[in-house]
Amino acid sequence: MDTAASTTTRPAVTAPRPVERLLRGQDTRDGAGVRLTRLLTQDLQRRLDPFLMLDLFGTDNPGDYIGGFPDHPHRGFETVTYMLQGRMRHRDSAGHEGLLVPGGVQWMTAGRGVIHSEMPEQQDGAMEGFQLWLNLPARDKLRAPWYRDIASAEIPEWQGAGVVARVIAGASHGVAGAVQRVDTDAMFLDLHLAPGAGFEQPLPATHNAFVVVYRGTLGVAGSAVPARQLAILANTPASDGVALQAGPQGARAILVAGRPLKEPIAQYGPFVMNTQQEILQAVDDFRAGRLA
Ligand code: FE
Repeated sequence: MDTAASTTTRPAVTAPRPVERLLRGQDTRDGAGVRLTRLLTQDLQRRLDPFLMLDLFGTDNPGDYIGGFPDHPHRGFETVTYMLQGRMRHRDSAGHEGLLVPGGVQWMTAGRGVIHSEMPEQQDGAMEGFQLWLNLPARDKLRAPWYRDIASAEIPEWQGAGVVARVIAGASHGVAGAVQRVDTDAMFLDLHLAPGAGFEQPLPATHNAFVVVYRGTLGVAGSAVPARQLAILANTPASDGVALQAGPQGARAILVAGRPLKEPIAQYGPFVMNTQQEILQAVDDFRAGRLA
C-alpha cells in the first residue's frame, strides 16, 4: 500500500448511507433465450435515475446463454457490459466489432441508433457478468453512436489495505476511471475486498447509488447484503458517502452511483427517450431501416 498516496487521498466518510431496500430482481430470459436476473427493473428507473437497467447473468449451463443476443436495436442511452467469466463477440451497424473477455468492459453509446449483436464465443464453460444501462440527457439522445472496448489491463485501479477498486467510470480515491460522463457523473466501481476489509467512498447525498455483491457477503453501514441482490443505498440528506465491509470470506461487489437527470423517461423495449412521440419515431425509424 502506498501510504503517501493513501494519506493524501484518504476519504473521510463520517455519515455513511444506510441500505434502503434489498431486491432480488426478476429471473427472466432475453435475447435468444439467455437466462439472467434483471436486478434494476423498469419500476426503479425513477428511483435510480440516471440508471435504467441492470442485468446479472451467471451460469455454467450453455443452454442458458448459447443463443446469445442476435441483432437488435437501441436508441437513446448507453449500455455498459462488464464481463466476469466467458467470451462474447459484439458486432454493430456502425462497423464496430470486439471480443469481450473476463475483466473487460464494453461501453456503447447507442445515441440515435445502432443495431448490434452480442453472441457467446464459446460452446461450454461459465458465462458471467453485468449489463448496465445508463441514460443520456435529452440533448444527447440522438447523438452519433460511440463504442469502446476497454481491456481489463486498461481499467485503472486504486489499491488500499485489502482492497482493490477497479474504476470503470467516474473516480475513486483520486484515481480517474476509464470513462467519464459529465452530465451524470456516473461512477462504476468493481470492488475486490479481502476478508474483513473495509472500503469508503465519499458521495454526494443527492446521487443515486446501489451495490450488488457477486462473491461473498458485504456489510453496508452495518446491514448484511447477500450476493446477487440489488442494495439501494438511501439518499439520507446528511450522508457523505458509502462505507462497506467484507464478511469473513471476503467479497466482490459493484458500486454504482450517479447524478439524476430528472428528465421524463419513456421506454419501449430497447428504446429509451423522453416522450411517447419520440418512442413512436424510434419504432418508425427502426422499421424504415433508419437506425443502422
Ligand atoms: Fe443490446
